[in-house]
Amino acid sequence: VQFIAESLVEIQQTLIQHNSGVHIRYGNPIDEIPKLVTELAINAVYFNRDYTTYPVNRDSSVHAKLEDIGCAVHSFKDHVMFEPHEILKKDGTPYHVFTPYSHAWRLALQTTTAENYPITLRNLGPAKNSPAGSLEKLLAFAGFADCAAKSEDHPTDSHQKLYTRGGSSAGLQQLKTFSTSIENYETARDFPAIDQTSRLSVYIRHGCISIRDMLTLALSDTTIGHEKWLTELIWREFYQMIFFHYPEVHTEAFQPKFKGLKFPTDEVLLAKWKTGQTGFPLIDAAMRCLNQTGWMHNRLRMVVASFFSKIMLLDWKRGERYFSWKLLDYELASNNGGWQWAAGIGCDAAP
Ligand code: FAD
Repeated sequence: VQFIAESLVEIQQTLIQHNSGVHIRYGNPIDEIPKLVTELAINAVYFNRDYTTYPVNRDSSVHAKLEDIGCAVHSFKDHVMFEPHEILKKDGTPYHVFTPYSHAWRLALQTTTAENYPITLRNLGPAKNSPAGSLEKLLAFAGFADCAAKSEDHPTDSHQKLYTRGGSSAGLQQLKTFSTSIENYETARDFPAIDQTSRLSVYIRHGCISIRDMLTLALSDTTIGHEKWLTELIWREFYQMIFFHYPEVHTEAFQPKFKGLKFPTDEVLLAKWKTGQTGFPLIDAAMRCLNQTGWMHNRLRMVVASFFSKIMLLDWKRGERYFSWKLLDYELASNNGGWQWAAGIGCDAAP
């Protein structure tokens, strides 16, 4: 909530320079967006497409309602470089294996020219007294308090380091910082303690930076580090593509032979894993890091998820759900793909 609030306040600060501001509504977007369109006599709505089940259904309901009231709707590709239907096998079906998908993705990139949408901040409507006027006001409006402010319980700077600052400028700064060490990414990313991955997932997930900003960095040089980082960006699109074409992976294994697989249930083990009390130092450190900061290094996500499914024999869906509550960068498709991979029941996973 803090991250989102900080991001909105930053947008508000930009809009205020154009005598405008952020409208904030509380309610179901399917009702609120058409209501806002009517109240402000808006004649066209623009939005960027999303690819998992809930947003796809939400957007099509909003779209239908807007058309009913005579409002034009324009949607755009922004969240990914290639949408799920753009990279398909020659026979028109989706890839199930990452390597050929990534080859096709790279090939498509060579023949793609960037679409350029001019943005004008003229003619914006006013938004008086927006709750996004200040962080304190916005958090209070939503019923929360500032968790990053220093308090008597947390008098030192170490508290500040526990949380990730929201907003595009923080995201772009993080991108810049990472650009100075990306060359080492290929080897450094295997060691969680040296903390040399980009830590951009929370920014891309909330739309604070664009995949095109990230891609520009990935393509800015041909070192093995740049190359490997590009591959990770492709993994993100691979999982979005899988989820779009096979939304049933939300509740069951991708591989048909593992659908309905039964897992022993052990609530005590589950609680120990969640709280970082298994007695295995690497697992426990990773889980405590997740609980305190909302972030976990990729190698640790792989280790704790494998441990959960293959050593503790717990149902991967319970682990996936716990991650969904705790991760600041939580994204349904990547989380589901990562868990199915670790549990050995997903696409392109070792059984
Ligand atoms: P970097 O190593 O710097 O990678 C750059 C970007 O590439 C990331 O920000 C992310 O957008 C993308 N990326 C990297 N690795 C992957 C991957 N394996 N799959 C998909 N995209 C990737 N990522 C999420 O964004 N949200 C999740 O909810 C999520 N859950 C995961 C659960 C499990 C069990 C596993 C194994 C992985 C999960 N990942 C998830 C993928 C990955 O661990 C994180 O994206 C990465 O750790 C984020 O840190 P970073 O930004 O420093 O990554």
